[in-house]
Amino acid sequence: MSITPNNGGNNPNASVPSGYLKSVFYTQDGTPVAVSLQIKHLQVNAGQWQALELSYTATERGYLQVFAANESDQTVFFDDMVVEHTPQLIVQENHYYPFGMNLSGVEKQGRPEHRYQYNGKEKQEAFGLNWLDYGARFYDAQLGRWHSIDPLAEKYLFVSPYVYVVNNPLKFIDPNGKEIEKGSQKEWDKQKKKIAARRSELQKKIEKLKAKAEKKGWSKKKLARKIGNRQERISRLSSTLTIMDGLESSKQTYALEKTTDELGETKLDPNTKNIVIKFGVTSNFVHEVTHAGHFEKGEVGFSAKTGKPVLHDVFDEADAYQAQFAYSPSSVSQLSSTHTANSFKKITASWVQGIITSNNKQPYKPGGSANTAGVRLSINSTRDDLIKALPRYKDMLMKYPANTNILRFLKGTYYKK
Ligand SMILES: [Zn+2]
Repeated sequence: MSITPNNGGNNPNASVPSGYLKSVFYTQDGTPVAVSLQIKHLQVNAGQWQALELSYTATERGYLQVFAANESDQTVFFDDMVVEHTPQLIVQENHYYPFGMNLSGVEKQGRPEHRYQYNGKEKQEAFGLNWLDYGARFYDAQLGRWHSIDPLAEKYLFVSPYVYVVNNPLKFIDPNGKEIEKGSQKEWDKQKKKIAARRSELQKKIEKLKAKAEKKGWSKKKLARKIGNRQERISRLSSTLTIMDGLESSKQTYALEKTTDELGETKLDPNTKNIVIKFGVTSNFVHEVTHAGHFEKGEVGFSAKTGKPVLHDVFDEADAYQAQFAYSPSSVSQLSSTHTANSFKKITASWVQGIITSNNKQPYKPGGSANTAGVRLSINSTRDDLIKALPRYKDMLMKYPANTNILRFLKGTYYKK
């Protein structure tokens, strides 16, 4: 160590002694940082007693060595040595590798350490295992694997039950060790492929008919009749694919859930705030994905408490059935209602109102809980729209100004902001 102050120092003849206070900070592995900066010397002509004071802000975990010394021949007395530690303001700051290992070099660790870290899961430090407790099972971020199988393994047959979030932690999280958020991307892609395949099938058929018309000299009218609703089905399927693109790039997380029920459902999971698209076959998927698109457009919201749709009306239903019709006309035309919906035009709000399910229920019956008025509701609707939709609440609603936004009456609605 070499100390060369302006006065005193190692010069035994100097009139000022070379007493100083020094601190050295070492990182956790013992590497010293900022050694020479932390020296405070006695000053010339500052009187008999002088205060030496140093401060050091540690930016990482480590050790601080503080000492007083005198490197001159003159006597120096040190007294009143105090080391004060001011705790840092940030209690703890964690950073992670994608699979959940801590990026310890840039972290600020708390004392005591707050152990709810990656994904908000508690780090189990017993036996030096460092597993994370996900509720249903323990996750090992060092391997990016679970040590026990997924209780819902049969839902994800395409992937090993020990694999964490289908090996894609950038895209998915696992809320409880059971399910993958944002659904299974594979299932999503599979449905998307099927829709695109149906579209190109229709396109090919049209090309064929056009070629045939040319060959046989069909009139334009005859060709149009032969093509039928295929062109409209194509453009409807394209809309569904566009909706899917929108959902993929949305900030909202969508999850898929397969069901064997006759009816699918689009709902909010009140805990994870994921929108769950529950569906059976692809035609049903197209229907429910249209409802998910309604959420993106502000056509519907969900009750934050129960997860049930809010502002969902017969117009949204007609929309969803039209999209479904494009994929599979028979899946819609075979439904019983007041009339048979065997064309896009016939799939109307009033047809929806007349739907009778296999257990003889009429879920969209006029006067029932569904919106039955000739007005479409969305999160941008006003008091007057709501009165038209639900006339039985008129008296209560009239107390509010006409332009009151509908959400005022629907407290606790989760909607697209
Ligand atoms: Zn529906």
